[in-house]
Amino acid sequence: MLSNHELDKLVICKKCATLHKKIILASKTKAICTTCHSTLYRKHEDLLNKSLALSVTTLIFFITANLFPIVTIDFAGSVNGITLSSVFLTMFDKQFYFAGIFSAFVIFLLPLTLIVNFVILLLFMKLKINERAVKKMLVLLSTLLPWNMVEIFLISILVAMVKLIGYAEINFGISFWALVLFVFIDMYMTKNISMIALWGMKERIYER
Ligand SMILES: [Zn+2]
Repeated sequence: MLSNHELDKLVICKKCATLHKKIILASKTKAICTTCHSTLYRKHEDLLNKSLALSVTTLIFFITANLFPIVTIDFAGSVNGITLSSVFLTMFDKQFYFAGIFSAFVIFLLPLTLIVNFVILLLFMKLKINERAVKKMLVLLSTLLPWNMVEIFLISILVAMVKLIGYAEINFGISFWALVLFVFIDMYMTKNISMIALWGMKERIYER
């Protein structure tokens, strides 16, 4: 039997299940499986600072996206500004409670919880404090991430707008562009910052 400490020095290839000994990588390099040549892991350059900067940026874009109308629609002289929150508040008004709760969750509660969780978690790691809370937040993050579908919401806004072209004059506001940037950074982070890397980072930071 190997001890946990010895197991930490090994890495298994996800494609072919070959066991490898972990090595320390030089910057901008990756470890490749000797059997099937798939990537085992990469050297993350300053992952903590980069992720912290990105998550603070997404928080700013998210707040901006919520402050002003996303679009203003000029329909035969009557101008309507649509904000993110008006999307689900209107549904409540019209008594579509289920749809209202669902969209409030997808476009507001979930993204807000994710970003705030991310910012606090990375700040704690940066300051090397509160390991127990960091652990809990990492677990919460893995539970919530699969529900993150704000990009689908952005696409549905665009589809709705395209349908209105020709009937009304549509103007995209500053909040729309903030939302677009928010979705792009969100997608970039989801693709590039893996839960494995975050857990690994936590281990390295608190074991010292
Ligand atoms: Zn392999």
